[in-house]
Amino acid sequence: MPAQQSELADGAGAPLAGAVQMRACVLREPGRPVSVEDVLLEPPRRGEVMVHVAAAGVCHSDVHLADGMLGASRWPMVLGHEGAGVVEAVGPGVDGLAPGDHVAFCFVPSCGVCSACRAGRRTLCKPAGDNGVAGTLLDGSSRLTAADGTVLQHGLMVACFAERAVVPAAGAIPIPRDVPLWQAALLGCGVVTGIGAVRNAANVRIGDSVCVIGCGGVGLQVIAGARLAGAATIIAVDRREDKLEHAVRRCATHAIDASRAGADPIAEIHAIASGGVDYAFEVVGAAATIRTAWDALAPGGTAIVVGLAPQGIEVSLPAIEFLSEKSIKGSYYGSADPAQAFPGLLELVRSGRLELGDVVSDLIELEDIEAAFGRLRRGEGARSVVIIDAGLAGASPGARPGAGSSTGGSDDR
Ligand SMILES: [Zn+2]
Ligand SMILES: [Zn+2]
Repeated sequence: MPAQQSELADGAGAPLAGAVQMRACVLREPGRPVSVEDVLLEPPRRGEVMVHVAAAGVCHSDVHLADGMLGASRWPMVLGHEGAGVVEAVGPGVDGLAPGDHVAFCFVPSCGVCSACRAGRRTLCKPAGDNGVAGTLLDGSSRLTAADGTVLQHGLMVACFAERAVVPAAGAIPIPRDVPLWQAALLGCGVVTGIGAVRNAANVRIGDSVCVIGCGGVGLQVIAGARLAGAATIIAVDRREDKLEHAVRRCATHAIDASRAGADPIAEIHAIASGGVDYAFEVVGAAATIRTAWDALAPGGTAIVVGLAPQGIEVSLPAIEFLSEKSIKGSYYGSADPAQAFPGLLELVRSGRLELGDVVSDLIELEDIEAAFGRLRRGEGARSVVIIDAGLAGASPGARPGAGSSTGGSDDR
């Protein structure tokens, strides 16, 4: 369905030239349910593209934003930062993208020239990070306006819980047309984050032992990455039986239910891995689970904190254990160049060695996002994917994930 050219005026009475009117999921203020509103989206400017969004994944970071846990001044905002769609319009100065191209979003459109980028740490790109936090595009301004004239922030420079998104060209990564867009929607956050943590932050080698604490949408990708890297022992830890069953289907070799009466995950990990694991991945973002990751390590092991902790959380560690050369490090968005990782990950998908659809527990509509946030707050399910254009996405809201797809999951949920 084509977006309407807007006849609406902005708050000051001036028309927004060429803006399209569309539906979008807006965070007005934390602590209140998000709302689906008609908003205006201006056309792409220099170096930007407009994407017709097909599908978008619902991530715990969206919930943190909606709950006001990532700092003040992050609203009003159009949410959504992992998704896929089809390029609809291209601004001046954009090379390598044309209308009709299938793309997945990358929420760190790195500049390539700041000191972090030059050092090869593109996820730490300063202009991308600063504007991502500010809710603007790379020129420091927004293309999004509410019907009442309020300027809206672009969620993590993507804002794809909407029918259209204008993003920097570096934030729209071309993908092959044979990957269904409802699955490609997961690439740009959960998949790159989880698999990149294994490959780039940890450097897991054949035969290593790992544990993964937290088996939601990203934790399941860490498990997939550990399997691809050749880890011999993959211990999944969670408080929900259904997530642990899912982890075992993803080739976790052991599952520990931390909610069980008398459960002692650290002792169980040490028993399974004969004295601790080489790598412990924390994919929750809480002080207690970060400490569990540390305690799970063998001497010389490394804890990788992937989970996004709310502001203000602090962790304490027994400092004497640095004598045993244990270490702990953070991993943001896969710790390398996310855009560079997309093609190889997609080849794994096409060859059947990486499943995307099997982490999807719910296919939903824009209006259902608040309910999906509720499931994430309660720790239920894996990934919800918002189907914004069923025709483009290759799946319909409410349909059983995997139906009609060659790479979909086969399990019943
Ligand atoms: Zn995310
Ligand atoms: Zn940079």
